[in-house]
Amino acid sequence: MTLKSKQFGEDFLWGVAISAAQNEGAPATDGRGASIWDVFARRQGKIKAGAKPYPSAEFYLRYKNDLLLAKALGFKVFRFSISWSRILPDGFGKINQDGILFYHRLLDECLVLGLTPYVTLYHWDLPQELQKNAGWASHQMQKWFLKFVHVCLTNFGDKVQDWIVLNEPMGFTSLGYALGKHAPGKTSIPDFYSAVHNALICQAEGGRMIRAHNSKAHIGTAFSCSEVMPFSQKADDIQAAIRLDILLNRLFIEPALGRGYPQDDHFPFLEKMQLHNKAWRYTDQMTFNFDFVGIQNYFSLTVKANPIIPYLGLSEVKASSRKVPHTDLGWEVNADSFYRMLKRYWLYGSVKEIIVTEGGAFYHDHLVNGIVDDQKRIQYYQDYLKSLLKAKQEGVNVKGYFAWTLTDNFEWAEGYHARFGLIHVDFMTQLRTIKNSGYWFRDVLFKD
Ligand code: BGC
Repeated sequence: MTLKSKQFGEDFLWGVAISAAQNEGAPATDGRGASIWDVFARRQGKIKAGAKPYPSAEFYLRYKNDLLLAKALGFKVFRFSISWSRILPDGFGKINQDGILFYHRLLDECLVLGLTPYVTLYHWDLPQELQKNAGWASHQMQKWFLKFVHVCLTNFGDKVQDWIVLNEPMGFTSLGYALGKHAPGKTSIPDFYSAVHNALICQAEGGRMIRAHNSKAHIGTAFSCSEVMPFSQKADDIQAAIRLDILLNRLFIEPALGRGYPQDDHFPFLEKMQLHNKAWRYTDQMTFNFDFVGIQNYFSLTVKANPIIPYLGLSEVKASSRKVPHTDLGWEVNADSFYRMLKRYWLYGSVKEIIVTEGGAFYHDHLVNGIVDDQKRIQYYQDYLKSLLKAKQEGVNVKGYFAWTLTDNFEWAEGYHARFGLIHVDFMTQLRTIKNSGYWFRDVLFKD
């Protein structure tokens, strides 16, 4: 049976998401300060083909047109993030009024078009000035972050009801501070522990500040998640999967729900971490009663024990070598696993509502005679949405699905080759072409 949006219920939120660092471009326009991604992109070999986060899709200039496209495809929610260094160029001190005005124009346009803005406060683009003082690894992070949240609330609080405090804290702390693959490119385990600790506090304190400003606000935060499967039933492989599961799926949500850091009987992984940093302890400052939890599931993982890998003692067994379906980034495609993750988060009992705040896939697109026939992406959305519907029908309170992403954009360390958009962008001419997946949302899913 063809999937139809009405099967998900009248009040289901159909959205499409972008982020400031990936879409806006205009890195120095109207007084914007540098972000860690501008600086990281200058380091040789860090980003494929030496790409920079600009001009990207020039959303700063073309936002009206892109919002019209989002509307034309039938979406009702538009998720975007605020560039911290556009409104506070050095992260903390002086406010840049031109930056504030940009977000007012953007919000006004959303409201005129009837697109509900879902605003992400932090989507990975820390002001570089703060990174000079250790960024997320600094104990000053809470002070800096709350200043930024305060500026956002006092300026945009009248126009925004729906907030996402952090985007994938596991992503930016691990890739940015431990693995060196994302900005700021650090490879320090102690910095990673501090960044996790600070992000957990900022996540909950940010939520509290929004609640204090507007008791009716709808407040969430967005977690990455990936089901982790052992490669074999050998005890070592099973334990390896448990260890990675703690990091990827439990480390950020359990303290937020007031359960403390996740505990594991088989391997006291987190206790081992705590030896490195005496300040790394759960505090109830990390807990907040979020109205919704954002879930972003891009792949599942299979791992096996590998004692030569430091700390984790495991390595991934890639989807391609297991000959299972995967995207063109090698990410395993497994809609059943997405269904299990939705059920699993719901089982915590204290999650009030789930929104899938991102979902999408990269496959090589071919623009031929003005058409991008991206059938694999359509299949991906169909399969994942069927899983969501199944979970919803079984009682999981999933209230929305936001496609990642509206237009092709800067895909972090992958640069511009990994296109996730529903709309193709020619980065030389900025010409937009709606892909068949975009038309699928409009003409199949959203059609009565
Ligand atoms: C991030 C996006 C990113 C997407 C695809 C998510 O983890 O929030 O910014 O583009 O994954 O990699």
